[in-house]
Amino acid sequence: MKPKPLLLLLLLPAAVLLTACSRTDEYASYAFYAMDTYVSVSADGASASDLAAAADCVTALEDRLSRTKESSDLSLLNSAPSAAVSDETFALLSRAVTLCEQTHGAFDTGIGRIVGLWDITGKRYLPTPEEIGALLPSSTCNGTVFSGGNLVTKPFFDTVYDLGACAKGYAAEKAVALLKNRGIRNAMISLGGNIAVTGHPKGFDTWRIGIKNPYFPDTIIGYVPCTDTVVSVSGAYERFFIRDGVRYHHIFDPATGYPAQSDIESVAVFSEDGFLADALSTALFVMGYEKANALYREGTFAFDAVFVLTDGTVCVTDGLDGVFVFDQTARFSDGTALVYR
Ligand code: AMP
Ligand code: MG
Repeated sequence: MKPKPLLLLLLLPAAVLLTACSRTDEYASYAFYAMDTYVSVSADGASASDLAAAADCVTALEDRLSRTKESSDLSLLNSAPSAAVSDETFALLSRAVTLCEQTHGAFDTGIGRIVGLWDITGKRYLPTPEEIGALLPSSTCNGTVFSGGNLVTKPFFDTVYDLGACAKGYAAEKAVALLKNRGIRNAMISLGGNIAVTGHPKGFDTWRIGIKNPYFPDTIIGYVPCTDTVVSVSGAYERFFIRDGVRYHHIFDPATGYPAQSDIESVAVFSEDGFLADALSTALFVMGYEKANALYREGTFAFDAVFVLTDGTVCVTDGLDGVFVFDQTARFSDGTALVYR
């Protein structure tokens, strides 16, 4: 019997806190709601306290890094010109600012006010060009100053940071690392479009990560056999609303303040570094396939990726050539076959 590929989960805003803890044979799993998404942890031989510790790791990060929780480290900074933050928030923000430079602004963690204005999963507001134009100049992390005592000074008084494009991948990596430190060899955490795995599923050599078909999200376009990695997916199909026949999604082009007009429908980034996998998935989506491929070839970052393009083609970076297993039955939006090239 072959292991079934894990389906990368759609970001589903749930109204209830999902909690479940089960232990079948020696494989334990735990599901809960955090970071605005459904989270599930499965670990071979984990105790209830191991699973609770992994869950605590995710919720503690949410408490620190959330843009919308008033008491978070990030919110304190967002409501002042400068603030001293925790070591971890300081390190993550400084990494995010560097990544903004390295991606030529495609990933920009200073985009918080634009994200809040559109509120894609909440009030679903269609802003006017004037409203966007008024927020755009200060919606950047460029110019953030990091000083001693973990002091972060914002580039503009009203800049609002949002770590939504990198915190989940980071949290997934940290939670799996915590389980490994507790002696667990085989584990998986799935956190709204981000999956971290270590070891292998019981009785099998490797994990198989299924990549959702963005055109038919209850099917997959194929899978990648892998282990000790984090996979992060960014896709226009994840969170969006439609107004007058136009789809407005949650991944913004920091240069315009509008949902990114990309030739990528979804991109899955594989890296051992969860922060990088998550941040890059967003950045690659915004920059489009040609620039994404150029960034891969530059070799600055260690990652691989699977792209589903808006023209109905699927392509992978060199490191996944011969590794990614394409599902020949995968369909494009018009019902024709997706083409793997
Ligand atoms: P992801 O699903 O990882 O691509 O992250 C999308 C989330 O990151 C959005 O819901 C926003 O909170 C935030 N975001 C959107 N566009 C960007 C961007 N260009 N750079 C950084 N963060 C962004
Ligand atoms: Mg991301």
